[in-house]
Amino acid sequence: MNSTLFQSLPDAVSVYEVSPRDGLQNEAAQVSTYNKARLVDALSASGLSRIEVTSFVSPRWIPQLADAEDLVKRVHRAEGSRFSALCPNRQGLDRAIACGIAEVAVFLSVSESHNKRNVNKTVAESLAGFREVVQPAIEQGLRVRAYLSTLWGCPYEGDVDPRRGVAITRQLLDMGCYEVSLGDTIGVGTPRQTQRILEMFLSEFSPDRLAMHMHDTRGTALANVVVGLEMGVRTFDASVGGLGGCPYAPGAAGNLATEDLVYTLHGMGIRTGIDLDKLLEAGRVATAIVGHELSGKVLRAGVRSLRR
Ligand code: MG
Repeated sequence: MNSTLFQSLPDAVSVYEVSPRDGLQNEAAQVSTYNKARLVDALSASGLSRIEVTSFVSPRWIPQLADAEDLVKRVHRAEGSRFSALCPNRQGLDRAIACGIAEVAVFLSVSESHNKRNVNKTVAESLAGFREVVQPAIEQGLRVRAYLSTLWGCPYEGDVDPRRGVAITRQLLDMGCYEVSLGDTIGVGTPRQTQRILEMFLSEFSPDRLAMHMHDTRGTALANVVVGLEMGVRTFDASVGGLGGCPYAPGAAGNLATEDLVYTLHGMGIRTGIDLDKLLEAGRVATAIVGHELSGKVLRAGVRSLRR
């Protein structure tokens, strides 16, 4: 009997919910501000305390996000909850500060071609641009998170050298970001690869500065999460119902579903502070507002299919 498995699991982990922003942004449906607020409130009611609610990008880029201020004003802010918003530039930061957001997030890709397609900048230009967001945000008392995309693979370049990711992460942390969320943007990662990538990162950074943002496009997100758990990562991004498809594989799953993550964590005896039944309720709200079935497996199957 091999008893070396699961020797270093934590008692608790932090789940960072991305469905209102990352999820809805990748849905075709136009969702009203009222329904977005319903979703955020249902997520909060489940005990999720870290929720990325919107993005302060220019409405010219993403018209669905033009209601960011209105949404932030409408949502109920539960005690102890921390809402965040994506913030690409100084104008976005000013809007976030004006409506009392406690945390902002900046984002870039490890691969040049994905960054170019996504934000029309080189990686160096993105990093330079963050200097007008990160330090001013910290001076205003906000926390700044960073997303690093395409670390497991790039839709344009294929394989990505994780050492580039380590170098970029060092700059993001030096700049003052409190956490860097490492993203498998196209959902290609497998467990050995995850181990190799995390070994490189954990030889340079403390695990409490890292999060994992895994996509379930090929069904490997949870397997990669378990590798991360074993190796010391304690924050995982997820989206209720798996809301938000994969922009590079139409019809395929995108974000790891929060309820699949929470079901697995609770089953392993790891606390999240989330009530799974209420989370499934939030998943039903998400299904209703986008008007189609979502990919989350526990949402479809239920917590238990048989009475014991
Ligand atoms: Mg995502």
